[in-house]
Amino acid sequence: MTQLLKRFIDRTHIAYFSMEIAIHPEMRTYSGGLGVLAGDTARSCADLQIPVVFVTLISRAGYFRQEIAADGQQVEHPDWWDPAQFCKPLDAMVALRIEQRAVWVRPWLYVHTSPHGDTIPILLLDSDLEQNLPEDRELTHYLYSDGEKYRLKQELILGLGGMRLLQALGFRLHTYHLNEGHAAFLTLDLLNRYRFPEEDVRPGEPLYDLAEVRERCVFTTHTPVEAGQDRFSYELFASMADDLVDIDELRQIAGSTQLSMTQLALNLSGYTNGVARRHAETTRHMFPGYRVHAITNGVHVGLWTHAAFAKLYSETWPNWHHEPEILVRAMQLPNDRLWDCHLTAKTELVGHVHALTGIRLERDIATLGFARRMTGYKRPLLLFSDVERVAAIAARHPLQIVLAGKAHPRDEEGKAAIRRLVQLTQQLRGRITCVFLPNYDMRLAQVMVSGVDVWLNTPLPPMEASGTSGMKAALNGVLNLSVLDGWWAEACVEGVNGWAIGTEDDAAAADNHANLLYARLEQVVLPLYYSDTNRWRDMMRQSIGNIGYYFNSQRMMRRYASEAYLR
Ligand SMILES: *Cc1c(COP(=O)(O)O)cnc(C)c1O
Repeated sequence: MTQLLKRFIDRTHIAYFSMEIAIHPEMRTYSGGLGVLAGDTARSCADLQIPVVFVTLISRAGYFRQEIAADGQQVEHPDWWDPAQFCKPLDAMVALRIEQRAVWVRPWLYVHTSPHGDTIPILLLDSDLEQNLPEDRELTHYLYSDGEKYRLKQELILGLGGMRLLQALGFRLHTYHLNEGHAAFLTLDLLNRYRFPEEDVRPGEPLYDLAEVRERCVFTTHTPVEAGQDRFSYELFASMADDLVDIDELRQIAGSTQLSMTQLALNLSGYTNGVARRHAETTRHMFPGYRVHAITNGVHVGLWTHAAFAKLYSETWPNWHHEPEILVRAMQLPNDRLWDCHLTAKTELVGHVHALTGIRLERDIATLGFARRMTGYKRPLLLFSDVERVAAIAARHPLQIVLAGKAHPRDEEGKAAIRRLVQLTQQLRGRITCVFLPNYDMRLAQVMVSGVDVWLNTPLPPMEASGTSGMKAALNGVLNLSVLDGWWAEACVEGVNGWAIGTEDDAAAADNHANLLYARLEQVVLPLYYSDTNRWRDMMRQSIGNIGYYFNSQRMMRRYASEAYLR
C-alpha cells in the first residue's frame, strides 16, 4: 500500500473535489447525477492516465435507502456500508478548527483500476474517530443531510480537510478542480497560501494574491437556478470558522450579504465550465461578466454499456473502450445482432421487475422508461397529465412504463409525485402495465437504461443543466424522447437518433409539452416501433453511433485535460 501510495503521490498533479462520487454500487458515497458524473470522471481519468487524485466524503450512512410503502409514501432508511470492505485507512490525520474545537479528519484510500490495469486514487474523508466528540464523529455520515450547520461543517471538512490531508500526505499539485460549489472552501486554504506578506500590504489593499489562486482552480457548475445554490450567512460562517480568513475580504469575493459557494468558486477559478452549451449560456446570464466555457458532460462507456452490447462492440472494434469515438461507425452493426443484444437487456429488465414487484412485463411490448431525481422541475407527472389520454394511446398501441427515482427527504413536492405515480400504477392496472421500482441507484440505472425501448425526459427548460441518463440509454440503442434541454438540445437529430418534445426556444410553450409528448408517442414513436422494425433498428444504430461517440466521459476528460488542466 505505501509503495502504491508513493507512486500516486509522485505522479499526481491534479486534485478533483466532489461532495459525492459514485465509485462502486456497494459504496453509498453518492446520491445521483452529480456523483455519477464524478465517478465517470474518475473512471475516465484512470483509462486515459490523467494524473488526478479524487477527494470526497466517506458518507458511511449514504444518502438514504428508499422504501416505497403500499400507499406510495417514500420511507427513508440510513444506508450504512462498511469502508473497510473496499478501502484502506491511511496513516495520516489533520485537525480542523470548527466551532472553536478541533475536528480530526482521516482519509481512506480507494484504488480504482481500469480494465487495462491503470489505477487512480480516491481519498474518502472520515471524521468518525475516537479523538472527536460524538457529535463531530457523525459529520461525515450523512450525505446531504438536513441543517445548514451540518452542511457547512461538511463543506469545511471536504474543502479544507481535503487540502490539508493532500498536503500532509505529500502531494504536490498544480490544479484543483471544484465539482460544484460544495468544494469551494478549498480556495480558503489557497488564499492563505498566497497571502501577501503583512509588511507589503498597505491599508485598503488586498491581503491575498487572487491571481495565484485563480491560476490553480477549475470550477464546474451544475446548477442553473439561484435557489439550488449553497449560501451561508457570514454570522454562521464566522461562528464555525472564526479566524480562517479575513471576513471583509471574503465578502468581496463570495458576496456582500451572504457567502455564496458558487460566487466564491466563480471568483477564484481561472476556468469555469457549464455542463452543456445551453447551461453555459444560462450561467452567463445568471452571472454576467464571467467567462463560462462549455465542455458538455459525458458518461463512461465501460460502465454504462450492457455486457451484451459491450461484447458486440469489442468484437467489432477491439479498442472501443479507450477510443469510444469509433462508435461513430455503428452503421456497421448487423441488424439481428443488435436486436439480440437489446432483447437480452430487455429480458433482464423483465426479470428484475418481476423479482422486485411480482409484475410481469411483456418482452414484445414497447417499454418506456423514466427514472430521475423526483423533483418539481423534472416534471415526473407530465406523462400522466391526462391519464385517460395515455390509456387511450396504450389501447391502440400497447405500452408499458417503468418508473423510479428518489425525492430528497425534505422535497415534499417530489415525495407527493412519487405517491401519485404509485397510485397511477395501481389505477391503470389492466390497461397499462406500469411499475414504480424502489431505490433508484447505479445498479437499477444500469438495468433500466439498457432494458427499455424509449427513455423519456421531461424537464422544464432551462432547468436541466445537462442530464446524463439519456446518454447511457443511447449507448444501449435505447431511443431518447426528450424535451430539448441540457445535453439533448445539442444531441437530438429529430427522427434520426431520437425525438424532441417541443422546440428549443419555446420555454414559454412548456405548458403544451404534455400534448406534444402524446402526439409524438401516438403518431410517431409507437407506430414506428410496431410497424417498421428496420427503421427502428436504424435509429438504434444512429443513437449508438452519433450519440455514443460524442457524449462519453473519455471525450469530456480529454477536453478538460487539454483546455482546463493544461491552460
Ligand atoms: C445517471 C444517473 C443519474 C442522472 O440522471 P439524469 O439524466 O441526470 O437525471 C441519477 N441517478 C443515477 C443512479 C444515475 O445512474
